Amino acid sequence: MNEVEFTENGSRCTTDMFIANPERYQGQIICIECRKRAWFTKAYKVRDYERTACFNAHHEDGCLKATTILEAENMEDTESDENSDNTSADIIVNLDKTKHGSIEKTTDSDKTTTPPHNWEPSPRPHVIGGKSGFPMDRSLRQILSYLVRNPLYGSGKSIHIQAESGRTVLQGMLRDFLVDVPDIIENDYMTVKIFWGEINNYTEKPNGDLWLNYGTRTEPSIFLNKDLKLDVMEKYRMKDLSRFHGSHFIVVGNVGKSPNGKPIIRASYPKYMNFINYKEKER
Ligand SMILES: [Zn+2]
Repeated sequence: MNEVEFTENGSRCTTDMFIANPERYQGQIICIECRKRAWFTKAYKVRDYERTACFNAHHEDGCLKATTILEAENMEDTESDENSDNTSADIIVNLDKTKHGSIEKTTDSDKTTTPPHNWEPSPRPHVIGGKSGFPMDRSLRQILSYLVRNPLYGSGKSIHIQAESGRTVLQGMLRDFLVDVPDIIENDYMTVKIFWGEINNYTEKPNGDLWLNYGTRTEPSIFLNKDLKLDVMEKYRMKDLSRFHGSHFIVVGNVGKSPNGKPIIRASYPKYMNFINYKEKER
């Protein structure tokens, strides 16, 4: 997109206008057609390919302003995990596989005495972290990738997150812990929650602290002090923070309020957060 809407007064903002005054427009621009949050992508050159500056957004399906496709980076693992999660929601299928193998399973299918399959997701405890649980990083990434595809994911599923020491960080029904940013309610300020949503812009302070922002100065942000920022950049092999534009995030942590009412999400370690970053592709 070459043009977006400036939400402060409904006027148009071009790439030239943004470049001239990024402070004014950052966090307050949306797609003219589908009205999804937008961000600025500066010009770049890769080998022979030159890309002029533009705006991007996670457009609604069918939006005519979507001239490029955003492709999620490093999603190979979660693609295959997703298949296994679909079957693990139905425990009977897994047991059949283990006990009888695929041949017997086919002959079983005519029996009328077998109990009907229960296609409801099972509230099976899913321990993440600790010494024996699923790796925290992978599990959070998996949950995030499902949520991106289906924001209602996880009903009927329980979750149990353990710290390295074995201490329970949180335990209960997944949906009770999920907070879809920016929809943070008063009750969410009390306990550890699982926040997820979009990062549409960021601000790096002179002292190295980083604010990953959903939108404007009064809307929620994730705060990473300099050390945490460097750890996260190392983990994601990031040379450039601009890869946070349009990222989806999941954070297990707390939210607090700044004096002017801005919700600030914090987590203690990189493993309590995960990000899906996007690459732009021509349509
Ligand atoms: Zn759009």
